[in-house]
Amino acid sequence: VSCTLLCQVVTAQVTSSKTPDATDKKVAALLAKMTLEEKIGQLNQYTGDRITATGPLGKPIDKVQQVREGKIGSLLNVKGVAETRKMQEAAMESRLKIPLLFGLDVIHGYKVTFPIPLAEAASWDLAAIENAARIAGKEAAAAGLHWTFAPMVDISRDPRWGRVMEGAGEDPYLGSLIAKARVKGFQGAGLGDTAAVMACVKHFAAYGAAIAGRDYNTVDMSPRLLWEVYLPPFKAALDAGAATFMNSFNELNGVPATASSYLQRDILKGKWNFKGFVVSDWNSIGEMVPHGFAADRADAARLAITAGSDMDMESHSYIDHLQKLVTDKKVSIALIDDAVSRILRKKFELGLFDDPFRFSNEAREKKIVNAPEHKAAARDMARKSIVLLKNENGLLPLSTDKKIAVIGPLAKSKTDMKGFWSVKWNDEDELVSLYEGLEARVGKDALLYAKGCGIKDSSRAGFDEAVATAAKADIVVLAVGETFDMSGEAKSRANIHLPGIQEELVKALHATGKPVVVLVMAGRPLIFNWTADHAPAIVYTWWLGTEAGHAMADVLFGNYNPSGKLPMSFPRSEGQIPVYYNYNNTGRPSSNDKDINYRSAYIDMPNSPRYAFGYGLSYTGFKYDALNLSTEKLQRKDPLQVSFTLTNTGKYAGEEVVQLYIRDMVASVVRPVKELKGFQKIMLRPGESKTISFRLTEADLSFYNNDLKKITEAGTFKLMIGSASNDIRLEKSFELIN
Ligand code: BGC
Repeated sequence: VSCTLLCQVVTAQVTSSKTPDATDKKVAALLAKMTLEEKIGQLNQYTGDRITATGPLGKPIDKVQQVREGKIGSLLNVKGVAETRKMQEAAMESRLKIPLLFGLDVIHGYKVTFPIPLAEAASWDLAAIENAARIAGKEAAAAGLHWTFAPMVDISRDPRWGRVMEGAGEDPYLGSLIAKARVKGFQGAGLGDTAAVMACVKHFAAYGAAIAGRDYNTVDMSPRLLWEVYLPPFKAALDAGAATFMNSFNELNGVPATASSYLQRDILKGKWNFKGFVVSDWNSIGEMVPHGFAADRADAARLAITAGSDMDMESHSYIDHLQKLVTDKKVSIALIDDAVSRILRKKFELGLFDDPFRFSNEAREKKIVNAPEHKAAARDMARKSIVLLKNENGLLPLSTDKKIAVIGPLAKSKTDMKGFWSVKWNDEDELVSLYEGLEARVGKDALLYAKGCGIKDSSRAGFDEAVATAAKADIVVLAVGETFDMSGEAKSRANIHLPGIQEELVKALHATGKPVVVLVMAGRPLIFNWTADHAPAIVYTWWLGTEAGHAMADVLFGNYNPSGKLPMSFPRSEGQIPVYYNYNNTGRPSSNDKDINYRSAYIDMPNSPRYAFGYGLSYTGFKYDALNLSTEKLQRKDPLQVSFTLTNTGKYAGEEVVQLYIRDMVASVVRPVKELKGFQKIMLRPGESKTISFRLTEADLSFYNNDLKKITEAGTFKLMIGSASNDIRLEKSFELIN
């Protein structure tokens, strides 16, 4: 690709923007004063956790000194007012006093840890999710940070991929709404609000579709799938005002995302008119060498800046090579200026040129970080994130007068409840374990304890004690699952069964005849078929953060009626993966799991997942009836009004997530059997009924054709309303007429 062509693209992108505003003018004035070296410094981001560190080529780097020399534009992994202040003071000693940006992976809370993002997604509660991000942003900003590398909005249909814990699951509609809520939460009143941070939407794009669920792996995907399933949450986040994007490690159809002009220039900065900046993922520029896409790091730097990666996270390629690339006329100064301007613009918008220390206030840090009201919000979010998978004969909620045997490797765990990212740098241990949560509710005397086994153990040495403990109790509460380091970045697993011999422990305890309530604490959908078939009650708690134990006790004793619904399908076997609800029918669909003769089916296992997308129980029951559509012949310009009645038929007050799906019955490209197009979370008292309304427009019926045009075709649509993607209670068809 010739530089001339790209210069035209960039110039077009820069000049196509409206007449320069006051900030543009400030940026231009500053840019005019900057040397090439200073400009390149702004594009350079280092990790600051090792202040004097060794770069990729083994040379020692004094980062404080480099900040003074204007060679660093941003640091990640420096946190807390004292530490950030020290580095910002160094920046104020540089020639142009351009302030540093401080970024950190505040993924689900800063000090007060909220449930992992996948767990929060199970709440389907957008206001609560936004609030959780708001609090995370508030604490981070109080700790001197300007920027969080969140939300991760990658759709994934593969629970082997360890990073599903950081996302919102498999569905583009739910994922888009959650992406929006998180961006709004983190960014608060907008850039300049010192109680908020900049969001960084990641990983652009299609990182969640890594082949075989192996982290960083190749992605090969049709453009239509990209646009229809993987891009919508990014667009939603952008529309919500996201200040920055991060690109991704993977290649997409042969081109590493970091060097993809298609993603970064054509789509993001072109068609979508994004005015913020793109940061590379950690050394994703350097990684283009082993990819076999760049000859060396200089080549990688050229490819990345050309394709629209504005800031280099920790590959040192820009700082080491851009200057010569510009001098040799392999990279135009227009490309550099555009990238620098985008970064400077954010620093102006954050108000850092007015006061580089406006996020650095020790008193504020002390007051806001770990505030009690943040813990209350974390507890509320945690109970909303819990999904009740099974509850035979109303075993739950428990009454408080029973003797409880609390058993399992995770019963007293705190660390694991933090989840992968939080554990990395959150050393404050105020976490409430399950055991402590139960103890706070019913007192020590009501509880017995045995560990049973370790998570990764193969020894049954603890089984006898666990069984003996169960024998002395009325009921067993068993905590099994994953350690914090079994789901997360680089934590892909080919075997996602309940690890070690934990399911053997379930069997041994079940054999005692005592009722066993199984709590599964994990960062991804796990497989536990025996437990699913035999345990009378199963509660999926994920990793719930600081208030984990209190939230679990709230649900177990019925102080909170569970309302979570799965944001991702749970397979019966790894062999089914990818298994997801919005699949296309084949010419030989299996109408049910038994109909397998020459069908598109497995002969050794049903097609259906163990637990479907949207599934989750309550302590009460809900009846759906009286579905009404405003018309059965819909004109394109008219909205479709949908209403039905929801009734709480049980004896507990509770919330139901009602879900609306559609199917376009015949279309010029095959459409999924179901697509989520609406949901609401409704609270009802026992016996109470409410009329629930939805409104669909033509846009809800549209799809991408193979020319990547978004179109809506006339014809029959099926509308389905239910309690889960596999539990449709009401349906009706309507015609879209031309
Ligand atoms: C991850 C990013 C993260 C970055 C900085 C990378 O390895 O992929 O999601 O923001 O590290 O910690």
